Amino acid sequence: MTVTRRTFIGTTVAASATLAAPMLGAQATPRVVVVGGGAGGATAARYIAKDSQGGIDVTLIEPTRTYYTCFFSNLYLGGFQEYDDLGHSYGTLASDYGINVVHDWAIGVDRDAKTVSLAGGGVLPYDRLVLSPGIDFREESVPGWTLADQDAMPHAYKGGTQAKLLKAQIEAMPEGGTYAMVAPPNPYRCPPGPYERVSMVAHTLKNINPTAKILIIDPKEKFSKQGLFEEGWNNHYAGMIDRIGPDFGGDIIEIRPDAMEVVVDGTVESVDVCNVIPGQKAGRIAEIAGITNEAGWAPVVPATMQSRMDENIHVLGDASQQGDMPKSGYSANSQAKVAAMAVRNALTGSRMFPAKFSNTCWSLIDTDDGVKVGASYEATEEKIAKTSGFISETGEDAALRKATYEESLGWYAGITTDMFG
Ligand code: FAD
Repeated sequence: MTVTRRTFIGTTVAASATLAAPMLGAQATPRVVVVGGGAGGATAARYIAKDSQGGIDVTLIEPTRTYYTCFFSNLYLGGFQEYDDLGHSYGTLASDYGINVVHDWAIGVDRDAKTVSLAGGGVLPYDRLVLSPGIDFREESVPGWTLADQDAMPHAYKGGTQAKLLKAQIEAMPEGGTYAMVAPPNPYRCPPGPYERVSMVAHTLKNINPTAKILIIDPKEKFSKQGLFEEGWNNHYAGMIDRIGPDFGGDIIEIRPDAMEVVVDGTVESVDVCNVIPGQKAGRIAEIAGITNEAGWAPVVPATMQSRMDENIHVLGDASQQGDMPKSGYSANSQAKVAAMAVRNALTGSRMFPAKFSNTCWSLIDTDDGVKVGASYEATEEKIAKTSGFISETGEDAALRKATYEESLGWYAGITTDMFG
């Protein structure tokens, strides 16, 4: 039987490893392995495959068969998106771009042998490795909470069913109950994400449970788009949202998942829903590969997104430590295109252009009330450096806010097509 790339999809990992192995000796086509099929990884895989037109053999390793975007998951909590609309499959990357999609976990990287090992037992050789595993949590950042508590107190900060669970808990709150969010310390994915979430939870509660309260317990002095969010909360949800910052003990907390309590600087708060968003670090495989620093992130060379610790590895998105860009899907997608260009240059000699990056983060505060912040960036020796930026203003008229929201719908359609074809 001839094993084609199409039959490779959905076959066992053992089979996929067997397929990859003969190519090691033959060196017929350079091989790229991409770990993580999210905003960074799916984009990089697609661009490397598309632009090399068969000149590079691309394998994408991703455990889930359907990728649920974190972006717009807040809008799902607010009732503006359906859960199923957040899900995207890898079928087109396989069928139209010839990418070998392997549904498995990468569990090891041998940087000397240039191989990735998989939970299912396979070993994949690479000429270049692209890591875009997103984040993992620093559980110790929230005393009293561990991942074992994520069903009782969801984070909903990775894609998938956690958002569903959080929504169900919010909808089941008693009349006049309290939703608490333990906001994360810097740096974390999607700087406005927790505060857009508060807005969307407030929108839902205003409709179904108008006497409910929202309590934000925040270790940070200030947060992204703060003036815009606070203006919006006053306009739409007056009296509903209370934030305890570090000046009032927001950074001195203890979580009691069994009792549904949060102790803030000695004061016990009983809550009905507790959305704990812990501190973050690069996805574990980056640490396993030995390319993370003391802070838990993977430093990269801005012009190519190569690891500063291994030139054969490129790190994208949230896992990377690159400089001024926020950890966002837009950033990961932008970085992936630069990395794809660098990978093709290294493996096929294709042309390299100066790296340019961009990002915009939209947030929805209430129906048709959208705001945004964004910037352009260039690669310097030291970091990805911001060159110019923009942000919505307080007091904007309703038509502009509606247009900003509609822009975000176009962005979502565009980026998901750019990722998955
Ligand atoms: P991810 O997209 O998380 O992809 C990582 C992938 O790697 C996952 O699919 C995972 O299964 C896989 N993986 C991990 N480890 C392994 C392994 N060992 N082996 C194989 N696969 C592995 N960004 C925006 O731009 N706009 C927004 O509006 C926005 N809103 C957000 C709202 C919320 C609530 C949250 C939580 C995030 C939001 N973001 C937004 C941020 C955005 O989701 C992330 O920044 C983006 O997904 C990062 O892309 P990534 O490729 O680094 O990681």
